[in-house]
Amino acid sequence: MDKTIFDEMIATRRHLHRFPEEGWTEFQTTYLIATRLRELGYTDVRLGRQIIDTEAVLGRNPEQVKASIDRAIKNGVPETFIQEIDELTGCVAILNTGRTGPVTALRFDIDCNPVQETDDPDHAPNREGFCSEHPGLMHACGHDGHTAVGLAVARWLMQNKDSLCGTVKLVFQPAEEGVRGAVAIASSGILDDVDNIVGSHCGGKVKLGEVGLIHKGILASTKFDIRFKGTPSHAGNNPHKGHSALLAASATALMIVGIARHGDGASRVAVGKLVAGEGRNVTPVNAYMQIEVRGETAEINDYLCQKVEHIVRGNAEAYEVEGKLECVGQATTIIECPAVLDTLRSIAQEIPEVTRIAELDTPAGSEDFTIMLKRVVERGGQGGMFRWGCNHHGHHRADFELQDTLSMPIAFEIFTRYLQKTNSAD
Ligand SMILES: [Zn+2]
Repeated sequence: MDKTIFDEMIATRRHLHRFPEEGWTEFQTTYLIATRLRELGYTDVRLGRQIIDTEAVLGRNPEQVKASIDRAIKNGVPETFIQEIDELTGCVAILNTGRTGPVTALRFDIDCNPVQETDDPDHAPNREGFCSEHPGLMHACGHDGHTAVGLAVARWLMQNKDSLCGTVKLVFQPAEEGVRGAVAIASSGILDDVDNIVGSHCGGKVKLGEVGLIHKGILASTKFDIRFKGTPSHAGNNPHKGHSALLAASATALMIVGIARHGDGASRVAVGKLVAGEGRNVTPVNAYMQIEVRGETAEINDYLCQKVEHIVRGNAEAYEVEGKLECVGQATTIIECPAVLDTLRSIAQEIPEVTRIAELDTPAGSEDFTIMLKRVVERGGQGGMFRWGCNHHGHHRADFELQDTLSMPIAFEIFTRYLQKTNSAD
């Protein structure tokens, strides 16, 4: 790839790595993306409510958003920009070549994880001086690399637009972690004219130099927050007058992990967090839980969701407390479009640095790109997803790394060559 684009891509990834931001709080990141796109000459850069359906926003924590705005302003993001985006992160750049042709969307996710980066001096960001400067936060899933690849594609696209036809939409999606952001982007309608959509993720089971084509295996998933509210009482004098939120939550946790598995395919349930109670001798008033379910099909996932609803309602009744179930994340399974995967395979075969192409079809994690793909397919379009490998030590770990100078150029090549296939002016 072009040396100027390569150098800028690596520098951008390392800069983003220093300032990681969690889902819906990517203010510095969105400012960097929008500013760069405008400098590159993009005149149609959409932000805020233009790309986010606020009715469909999942898992956005207002206190976290507020604190992150303060931090972003301290770090140089203009207050006028925060107003311009209506406090809603993410960005879509649209390039219309003026020539008839398909609408192709490429998706790049931009958020980080609540992980404290390792201080091991051998960890590349420590060795090269670009480790996270936000305590407790880290790009431990490589979305800094995804964003930097997207901006490199943006520069290439501007330079090569005269050889292309149709329209290209570069989608910088907020809040992929917890599968929260895609629903709001999809239901904004910004993808409704899209003919082709492609997304990617680094790592997974795919090692450095390898490319994976995702046929199936992405699990449908729903993330829930559960809250119980009980009645306090003195645990010595009046235990019979209290209603314990803690006991309702504990019973809920055990019953969720005990849901009968579905006979039609793989499923997962996890109770990841439970915080309850106020003090030793007070009947607990508040309990808060974070749980998730996943299924090999949307139907299996729905079955698990229904069981969770029953359990929460039933335990609220049994323990005489208030129970509240809130959906804070949603993803579905991947729709396989063989023609798109064939195109991606032939592209990967042309790239000298690619050592192996893996056909991926076993149950893995979840990914809310599936929601965008579903929206596009429902309106007659097609799409697909690939992985570009790296030797990462495990996602969401303090020592996650992606060998940026070696892995990211492969992702860049696949995206740009894909545009040359789908939107060639010749
Ligand atoms: Zn990720």
